[in-house]
Amino acid sequence: MKIPKPKCNKCGEVAPIDNEMSNKVWTVYKTKEPCKCGGKFKIDFSSEEGE
Ligand SMILES: [Zn+2]
Repeated sequence: MKIPKPKCNKCGEVAPIDNEMSNKVWTVYKTKEPCKCGGKFKIDFSSEEGE
């Protein structure tokens, strides 16, 4: 199962990786922190579904 990366809802930048929380099998993104542009990081599942 492929999980889409969280992206900023304003500029589209991928959220930074939380190196403390991540491990070899699981990548954790810092989605709780706001983007530097002021937007929020959200996982857009709809983009991966391919309508
Ligand atoms: Zn942004």
